[in-house]
Amino acid sequence: MSQPDPRHYVRRVVLPSGKTIEVVYFEDQATAPGAPVLDPAPRTPDTTDLHVCGSCSSQLVYPVEWEEAGTTHWEVTLRCPNCEWAGTGIFEQDVVERFDEELDRGTEALVRDLKRLAHANMEDEIERFTEALEDGHIVPEDF
Ligand SMILES: [Zn+2]
Repeated sequence: MSQPDPRHYVRRVVLPSGKTIEVVYFEDQATAPGAPVLDPAPRTPDTTDLHVCGSCSSQLVYPVEWEEAGTTHWEVTLRCPNCEWAGTGIFEQDVVERFDEELDRGTEALVRDLKRLAHANMEDEIERFTEALEDGHIVPEDF
């Protein structure tokens, strides 16, 4: 990976577990006019946890879209609800799988919160949303 490709670059990231992964960035996505830009130099390796915002460190980052990018990578568009950061990147399967697990945990927490909220005035709407989450309509596991 020493030959730079004009269209993308690969960053090696060492995870807290000690495992090394490669994150592929596509330049045209990162530099497209008006497109959000992924931070190319995160301060800590923890930012390879996709649920952690590279901008404000919120752990509420969620995927807006994701689709397969080849057989081992995923193109994921992320959004942080806390600071409105958003970005698209190509991530290895392992990273996305860990993100998926984190999302499952986050979904459980979200459902708990929603069930508490369900006692407030938006009960019907939140119940429908909760059911959709529990039925897996919102978590993109099947993609
Ligand atoms: Zn943020």
